[in-house]
Amino acid sequence: MVRVRRVEDGGIAQELGIVPGTELLTVNGRELADFLDWEFLSADDELVIEAKLPDGDQIVYEIERPEGEPMGLELEPPTIRRCANRCEFCFIEGLPKGLRKPLYVRDDDYRLSFAYGNFATLSNLKDRDIARILEYRLSPLYISVHATPWEARKVLLNNPRVPNIVEQLTRLAEGGIQFHCQMVIVPGLNDGDVLEQSLTDLWTLGDAVMSVAVVPVGLTQFSHLYTGKSMDQTMAETLLQHVDRWAERGNEQRGTPWVFGSDELYLLASRQLPDAEYYVDFPQIENGVGSVAALRQRVSEGLSELPCFDGKRIGVVTGISMSDIMPELLDALRKQTGADFELIVTTNSLFGPTTTTAGLLVAADIRRALAGRDDLDLALIPAECINDSGVFLDDESFADLRGQLPIPVHPSYDFVDVLGSDSAFPLLGDAPVARRPSAAAQ
Ligand code: SF4
Repeated sequence: MVRVRRVEDGGIAQELGIVPGTELLTVNGRELADFLDWEFLSADDELVIEAKLPDGDQIVYEIERPEGEPMGLELEPPTIRRCANRCEFCFIEGLPKGLRKPLYVRDDDYRLSFAYGNFATLSNLKDRDIARILEYRLSPLYISVHATPWEARKVLLNNPRVPNIVEQLTRLAEGGIQFHCQMVIVPGLNDGDVLEQSLTDLWTLGDAVMSVAVVPVGLTQFSHLYTGKSMDQTMAETLLQHVDRWAERGNEQRGTPWVFGSDELYLLASRQLPDAEYYVDFPQIENGVGSVAALRQRVSEGLSELPCFDGKRIGVVTGISMSDIMPELLDALRKQTGADFELIVTTNSLFGPTTTTAGLLVAADIRRALAGRDDLDLALIPAECINDSGVFLDDESFADLRGQLPIPVHPSYDFVDVLGSDSAFPLLGDAPVARRPSAAAQ
């Protein structure tokens, strides 16, 4: 059974008398277990839907739907499947108390992997789940592989009952499913031979594996499970050498690098980041792979459209990891607009100094960085540190924060999103809306 949360005005569902709270029981004789069943089974144009209205009435709707017309309803969010692991490097284990509640949910859900690109380990996958993935052709999936050698994976995921990932992926690949994979590297556990064996196994799966991201483990001052080595420059450089070898092979034999190092790995190794072309269609940009190249590309493409801001002083708040990248971008913006850009690098007060990513800055960090800065005309902050509801990780809303600061502050993904909008200046208008750049647009 799935329950209706919202019904669109004038849509088919409203015409039928479906209201919020209605339980949808079956479609064409098949029981509905979740949103996936609804999405796939209701795709037919001829439907017999059994439903139970909130007043208890049970109704059967027989519908001939005009081709392509949506049903006009939204379901209640699904119950998220929790993970069965206790990974050495789990980000959630490294979260302090008092953050946004959804951050503490350990989801490991193949359905969200397909629907939203969330990474899943597949450790809680049952035979019936595999059958569904194959029937509904849920592809591509985003898989946290970390290691293919079984024993190494058991240790990494802290789960002796974890299934054999090579067998799982092989079965899915034989059914036509493709994957984007990630390997979070924990020094001493899955670097070196384990990494090499894992990449070999994934390569052997052929076209089923569309991309692999190699990502350094991110530990905060609250991480307490893993007590081994943390990632350093030498380790990052060694990992990039693996990436380079496999990328060369990928380019030669498959026309794509296939394996990508995350941006953080290049920054840790003090290596120059590849250009945008390297990332082809940016298959793992949400995983921090190619974000800097995409940012550079967007700034370069949008620069000529920016108006003159002669004499304005604009502060740009960022995390430590971007402090070396930003000056070249701000210089280009200064030359184009005439404004004076000041880079304001701030540390992460919540996760500690080892967490340097701009997207993990919290409201308190922004407040501290901009306190007393009424000499600025405008400040831009990383839009990635605010969720779709306008809330920072520390559960403070952007609206509240903005009300406490002495200057206009705008979240921005790439500077041109805000500076190119009509309301950037004069500064008293509504805050321009930073639009999340889509991978397709990059
Ligand atoms: S799979 Fe591992 S990293 Fe992901 S939530 Fe579970 S324990 Fe944490």
